[in-house]
Amino acid sequence: MFPGIVHTGTGWKAVRTMGTARVVFDKWDGRYSAAASSVRSSAVRDLFAAAARPDVISLSGGMPDVRRVPHEAVQRAVREAMRHDGASALQYGSGNGREELRATIVGLMAESGVRLSEDDLIVTAGAQQGLDLLAKVFLDPGDVVICEGPTYVGALQAFSAYQPRIECVAMDEHGMRMDLLEETLRHLGPRGAKFIYTIPNFQNPAGVTLSGERRRRMLELAHEYDVPVVEDDPYGRLRYEGGHILPLKALDPDVIYLGTFSKIFAPGLRLGWMAAPRPILAKVLLAKQAADLCGSSFAQAVAERYMTGTTWRRVLADLARTYHERRDVMLEALAEHFPADVSWTRPEGGFFVWVTLPDYVDTRSVLAEAVEHGVTFVPGSDFFPDGSGANCLRIAFCYEEPAQIAEGVRRIAEVLEDTLQLYRAFVTAGAVGGTRAGAPVMGGRR
Ligand code: PMP
Repeated sequence: MFPGIVHTGTGWKAVRTMGTARVVFDKWDGRYSAAASSVRSSAVRDLFAAAARPDVISLSGGMPDVRRVPHEAVQRAVREAMRHDGASALQYGSGNGREELRATIVGLMAESGVRLSEDDLIVTAGAQQGLDLLAKVFLDPGDVVICEGPTYVGALQAFSAYQPRIECVAMDEHGMRMDLLEETLRHLGPRGAKFIYTIPNFQNPAGVTLSGERRRRMLELAHEYDVPVVEDDPYGRLRYEGGHILPLKALDPDVIYLGTFSKIFAPGLRLGWMAAPRPILAKVLLAKQAADLCGSSFAQAVAERYMTGTTWRRVLADLARTYHERRDVMLEALAEHFPADVSWTRPEGGFFVWVTLPDYVDTRSVLAEAVEHGVTFVPGSDFFPDGSGANCLRIAFCYEEPAQIAEGVRRIAEVLEDTLQLYRAFVTAGAVGGTRAGAPVMGGRR
């Protein structure tokens, strides 16, 4: 086994090693709050250390390819920000974000079909902070949150600190299944959940998109059961095929919408936004002030400058072309190398493909071997609050060059083939039960 990766029971941990494994003893254990203790570790984050080795092909992290963002364009934005807004860029700013940037965001939202004014949104430190703040203002221990199963690891991390019960609703190739959502809501009763969390476009990790028809149905159900909808949309502008589908927020002003500059500019700025009904924004703003007083005035001033003119649109179009090509390479490599009893999704945009293996495979154990073979992915169980999805995995096509993607997929296939052969031998001998791969439902077994 690769010595830098250990499974801790709650997640994978990359341990820096100098020939021998180092055990870190936490003498403060037992003093942390229940909330801090309930935050899960994530294989994705932990794997960044292993993925940084130059010989390892990383199909694990969802890192935008910022190598394609021209430094001159950013330098120009910084220079202009300092020349025109230097004093305010270096000062504390208003808690809800700089007016000029909020005006830019209003324009971006209008292009997606959402009509807002600047007072309907606040600037956050990435969409991630929006998730944390929503959890902070909505959740008490034991409250129910409904989300897709699988769902974004960072959302699970943000929510779990506030100790909710997370109910996952399975998806198929058209996104969250509305029959199952209705069943869950009926079971919980009116106002039985604090919110429904959805990533409608090119979902992380499943890669599927919620159809227009299902978006309307979700909103009907949300009204019927009086449950707010949180729409997390980091990938909406990264569509490689098919037509734009209106955001839920365009259909219903009560939707809480999270956007981000991470994928249209760069995640290093840590800039995103939350558009929500004003009473909710007022509560979120108080929580945000407690967290950070205000966001980075400097980063906002730079983003304002970067987002004026047309350079950012050219850069984004170039990024989308790049990701599109890499997606195609990944899908071709999967078709060429992956075993027949494995299925995967076909994303129309975004960064991720979700792979479903036969029920008896545990991708957590496959991962260690994959790292030994010089490739990383994220085991499916990371994306469920209860350890489901162990027979699934997520691979990302956003960061590696096409040749590396093809080689990475080939290496995973090689490891899988070995594992599957072993399992098949057991199944034939009657030692374990065999089942087919679980497509097209993305759930996976416990
Ligand atoms: N939501 C989803 C679904 C994501 O995939 C990500 C980042 N990978 C985020 C939110 C957070 O993005 P950021 O904080 O960089 O805006």
